[in-house]
Amino acid sequence: LKIVELRERTVSIAAPMRNAAVAFGEMTASAVAMVSDGGITGYAFDSIGRYGKGALLRERFFPRVLGRDFPDPIDPPAVARAAMANEKPGGHGERPGAIALLEAAAWDLRAKAQGLPLWRSIADYYGTPASETISVYASCGHFRDDASLADEVKKAVDSGYRTVKIKALGNEHDFRRIEGVAGLAKIAIDVNGADVADRWLARAAQFGPAWIEEPAPPLDYLGLRRRAENSPVPLATGENLFSYDDARNLLHYGGLRPEHDFVQIDPLLAYGIDEYVRILRLYAAWPRHHFLPHAGHLFNAHCVAGLGLGSAEAAPDAALIYGGYWDRVRVEGGSMRIPDAPGVGFERKQNLFAVMESI
Ligand code: MG
Repeated sequence: LKIVELRERTVSIAAPMRNAAVAFGEMTASAVAMVSDGGITGYAFDSIGRYGKGALLRERFFPRVLGRDFPDPIDPPAVARAAMANEKPGGHGERPGAIALLEAAAWDLRAKAQGLPLWRSIADYYGTPASETISVYASCGHFRDDASLADEVKKAVDSGYRTVKIKALGNEHDFRRIEGVAGLAKIAIDVNGADVADRWLARAAQFGPAWIEEPAPPLDYLGLRRRAENSPVPLATGENLFSYDDARNLLHYGGLRPEHDFVQIDPLLAYGIDEYVRILRLYAAWPRHHFLPHAGHLFNAHCVAGLGLGSAEAAPDAALIYGGYWDRVRVEGGSMRIPDAPGVGFERKQNLFAVMESI
């Protein structure tokens, strides 16, 4: 099998909102199409928060895989390895997200060639326990001028979500916001790497959140360890760690507690599923349901299903190209059943597929 065509389009996913770390007013994402000589097209769509990767893909990674021989059906990890030829170890930077997009397009292509939904193709490849029904949670409460937090959380609950994550800043104002919505859903609190004080952590814990997310800067393992020692509630982190190397540092130095805390590394930002499975093997002492991949939308929902992970994150607004799930799929009681379409099923989410087709 040969890959005969690769295309990338960087699309705007700008929104008038921010979290503790960034504003989304200039946010972009990469959409990728991969065509095989068998005439099948695999698609990939970026995760959120790290901008498009078009230049890296076009300059460096597409040329390394175009026209090469791959097994049939295509072996997605082999595509990622070919793209990584002559890349130095370490550093990582923006590269892991670009490689992950290539691997993801190859996964969509493989599963389509097999006539399988992606989650089943992943489970068969790795021999993992899998389930088409997965737990999902809603990500809400970004800072914006035009929305009421309570309305947003109510809407997510009405859409079937049971756990709703809201953004916080690590200051006093947070507690008024949390108080206003604490009765509406199980709440998780995300401070996006703000360096929170012990006193803030103790007060936030009084709300009994499902978890507190990124309570220390992403690479500050010592700071995280100190907070894990002091936190009576579960902590979650990892969305800004993009490699096995970083995951190993988190495991060795972050002080997280396997039965208590959650790991949110995002396969779609971190070299793809094969790297993610290596990370799962490294965390062998951890329960699989303590892995909650960050964002990643439809693709990561398949990863949760195919690798038996804990829960997938969702932007609940289906009008967004990276929001909701497949058309006509409902979230019920915090769970969602992945439809039987081959591959990721981009074709079954009209607004997102319109973007894919435009590539
Ligand atoms: Mg987060």
